[in-house]
Amino acid sequence: MHALIALCFWTSSPQDPDRSRPEKAGEKFLEFWLREDPFSYAQAQAEVELLGKFCCTEEFNRRLEKRTEEDRKWAEEARVLSSRIQVIRTVEPSDGTATVDALRKLRRKKRDWNTDRFEEVAETLLYRLTMTKEGELWRVQELRRECYFCRGAGVCRDCQGTGQVYGQACYSCGGDKNCRECRGEKLQADNLKDFRMRFVIPEKELIHSSDLSTPRSAAQCYVDFLRRKDVEMSRRIQKFVEGVVAQLELFLVADLAKSVREGWAQDCEDGKRRYAEIERKIESIEEVGEEAFIVVVTTGGDQDARQRLVLKKNGESWLVDAVQLSCWSCAATGSCRACQGTGRSGEYDCFGCEGKKVCTFCMGKGWRD
Ligand SMILES: [Zn+2]
Ligand SMILES: [Zn+2]
Ligand SMILES: [Zn+2]
Ligand SMILES: [Zn+2]
Repeated sequence: MHALIALCFWTSSPQDPDRSRPEKAGEKFLEFWLREDPFSYAQAQAEVELLGKFCCTEEFNRRLEKRTEEDRKWAEEARVLSSRIQVIRTVEPSDGTATVDALRKLRRKKRDWNTDRFEEVAETLLYRLTMTKEGELWRVQELRRECYFCRGAGVCRDCQGTGQVYGQACYSCGGDKNCRECRGEKLQADNLKDFRMRFVIPEKELIHSSDLSTPRSAAQCYVDFLRRKDVEMSRRIQKFVEGVVAQLELFLVADLAKSVREGWAQDCEDGKRRYAEIERKIESIEEVGEEAFIVVVTTGGDQDARQRLVLKKNGESWLVDAVQLSCWSCAATGSCRACQGTGRSGEYDCFGCEGKKVCTFCMGKGWRD
């Protein structure tokens, strides 16, 4: 589904969900919280990628399209086919609290790695909500779901609940046979308050170059595009999360809603700081006939990276034909890591490069596509 359509569809959901009874409020909350992801990263990424189309060769754009198509296919294939929430038990002592147990019955596609085919599987998962009455409305205090580690069995996974491994007390559970994550409780609290979204928020509207006449100006177009890409992607994520926060405020108890709001405000502050910190610089330009190699260094905003742009001359324009990352194996030196570029291992040829001295991952270029 188109991301924006999904977003509109989702934001048109009821602004005043039925919270008059704990089981109703719990059911509505789970429908919202466990809904099939209405924000498609693959889709947003594909849309944003188009902004850089003008400064890249047709061949490079085709390669990118193929990659995003594959990402989209993956997202499509792994999707949930149907999901239904069913409240199975409500315990309501008369102190203004309630515990609601609900099952999520879902059908989804699952890949069989042996045959590479997809099959439909049915799953039933248990959720437990702790609800509190605030005024006339029931709100969510805590959500617990089946422990991921033991898949809700409560039993130690490493000793299969025997408490022993090779006749000794199990190192994982210390012999008590319980899952070490949930301590046998089968359920774990879900995180309802910290999103820790990593994005950037620009201080002002971006201005970008479109001059492709020289390798340097064309590389600057690409550098500007990388920044626009960050910003556009962030805008989409931000808009989506703002909707989630607004909805959460309807469902959560006041304290929890407050920490959601504060956490989100902090994420946004971090986004501004990150944007101010990120710096991309053209480090070097090497022109070889109809080709140019340009090293771009990105620092700050937790994303230090070196990239090399390969540009090709196309009529009067220079266009990006490849974006390479510096080789991690040889740390961009191009020399074999095993023999440090000597080609020798004692009196034999180096086993890593067979005596060729160069890094076998990047073939001595120091850069990889
Ligand atoms: Zn567990
Ligand atoms: Zn154990
Ligand atoms: Zn290498
Ligand atoms: Zn070697």
